[in-house]
Amino acid sequence: MSTQENTNGKAVIDINNIKLAQANSYNTLIENNAAWVERKLAEDSEFFTNLAKGQSPEVLWIGCSDSRVPANEVTGTKPGEVFVHRNIANVCVHSDMNMLSVLDYAVNVLKVKHVIVAGHYGCGGVAAAMSNKQFGLIDNWLRHIKDVYRLHAKELDAIADEADRVKRLVELNVSEQVYNLCKTTIIQNAWKERHDLEVHGWVIDLASGLVKDQQVTSSSPHNLGYVYEFATEEVAAH
Ligand SMILES: [Zn+2]
Repeated sequence: MSTQENTNGKAVIDINNIKLAQANSYNTLIENNAAWVERKLAEDSEFFTNLAKGQSPEVLWIGCSDSRVPANEVTGTKPGEVFVHRNIANVCVHSDMNMLSVLDYAVNVLKVKHVIVAGHYGCGGVAAAMSNKQFGLIDNWLRHIKDVYRLHAKELDAIADEADRVKRLVELNVSEQVYNLCKTTIIQNAWKERHDLEVHGWVIDLASGLVKDQQVTSSSPHNLGYVYEFATEEVAAH
């Protein structure tokens, strides 16, 4: 019980119970961590000694911040195997220094072989972008997804069922973000140097847990269109 009645019969908030519940949920995290360390060490006594030596992941995961789509659990991978960037609705914006820094480091320093944009059905960000409601600051972020809708308005407007329309926008958003990554000089310059870098688009079906590869894997700039493909010559000095 977090409320009780005062002398006037009005409900008052029991701060002590709220504080206790809050402390319990927080302490659970610390206890879970200790239990996890114990389990890991029981499996492999050198696990953390090796983990502390460094990382060489082959995958960069650009996923949604949604709590239901954790990169390692979805892919059955361990700490050290996936470099991760997440934001609301897995959007790749050309002016986002956070995303670009993660991408540059992953591609040019870690030399990852796969970049995966991972969206998911039931994405609140995509659903919000499809509505006409204001949500505050986030509207500026979601507008990038409205732009995806505008690009594919003919196809999307023809889908009568709203749930199906949101699902299709989730898929199209993933494809467009893969395309956005391929437009960057980071990806295009890496392709000039090596042939082992692929950019993929996935949609996770929360209802089944399964990943649907969107078949938009790119490993060269040839399908970008002439305005996006950078020339192979060096950048002009002036
Ligand atoms: Zn989402």
